Amino acid sequence: MKGFQQTLKNKISIVGQALHSGKVVALNLIPQPVDTGVLFRRVDLPGKPILAAKPENIVDTMKSMTLGTNEWRIQTIEHLMAAFHGLRVDNLLVEVDGPEIPLGDGSAQYFVERILQVGLAVQEKPRIVRKITSPVWVADGSDPRSYLIALPGEGLRISYCFTSDHKVTGDQFAQYLVTPEDFQKKLAAARTIAFFQEIEVLRKQGLALGGNMDVAVVVGEDSYLNELRYNDEIVRHKILDILGDLYLLGPIEGEIIGLRSGHKLDLELVLKLQSELSKEV
Ligand SMILES: [Zn+2]
Repeated sequence: MKGFQQTLKNKISIVGQALHSGKVVALNLIPQPVDTGVLFRRVDLPGKPILAAKPENIVDTMKSMTLGTNEWRIQTIEHLMAAFHGLRVDNLLVEVDGPEIPLGDGSAQYFVERILQVGLAVQEKPRIVRKITSPVWVADGSDPRSYLIALPGEGLRISYCFTSDHKVTGDQFAQYLVTPEDFQKKLAAARTIAFFQEIEVLRKQGLALGGNMDVAVVVGEDSYLNELRYNDEIVRHKILDILGDLYLLGPIEGEIIGLRSGHKLDLELVLKLQSELSKEV
C-alpha cells in the first residue's frame, strides 16, 4: 500500500444503466490533486452538491452503500469504490447525473478496464496508509452468526465466510491479500448474487429494475442459471464489497474477517475503526 498517491491520467466518461432505478446515467471520473481523496457530486441537481466518500456521509446501507444527505443521494457506490481501492486510485472526483452509479456488469470489472485504459498518474506526495492497531469487531444482533472483525496485520488481507443452506451455493470461504495484481485477476470480475425467486419480488417493489441475467450470479432452485466466472464467485464478490466499503477510510493496513456480514456491518466497522486507526505514513 506504500508508495505515491495516484489519480487518473485523463477524465473517463461512462454511460450505463443503474440497477435499482433502471435509469440510464452518465458518470465522469475526473483526476484530482494530491490529498483530495474521493469525492462524489450530483451534477443534475441545483448547486451540484458534493461530498467526500467518508463513513459519516453514508446515509443508507440497505441494498447498497448510499452516500448523501437528507436532500440528495448517490446509491451503489461500492463497486466503483472497490475499483479505486483495488487499483490504488487516491484522488478523484466522481460526477453523476442521477441518484445511482451505473451497475456495469455487476462487478468492478467494467470500471477497472476503463481506468486501466486511461492509466494511472503517479503524484508528487506519498500515500498515507493508516494501520489497524488493535482488534475491533461488530456483530449483527438480528443474526447471531454474523460478524465483521478487524485485526492488526501487514498489508490488507480480507477473508470472508459465506454460509447458506442453499444446495446450489453451499458454504464458501476465501481469503486474499489484496494487491493491485491479484485484485485485477481474482476479485474485480466477481459479480453480485441474485436468487431467481427474489428477482421478481424486487421488481414488484420497483427495485433491481436494471438487473438482468448478465449482471449477477443467478441462483436457481437446482443450479446456477448462468455461467460462473469463478467457482466461488459469490464469496469473491463479498470480499469485493468489503474492499469498496473499507475505502471510506482511505488506504488502510490490517486483516478483515467477515462472517455473513454485509454493507450494514461494513459501515458499523468503518465508523468504529475511524477513531482507532494509527496516523502512520
Ligand atoms: Zn456488491
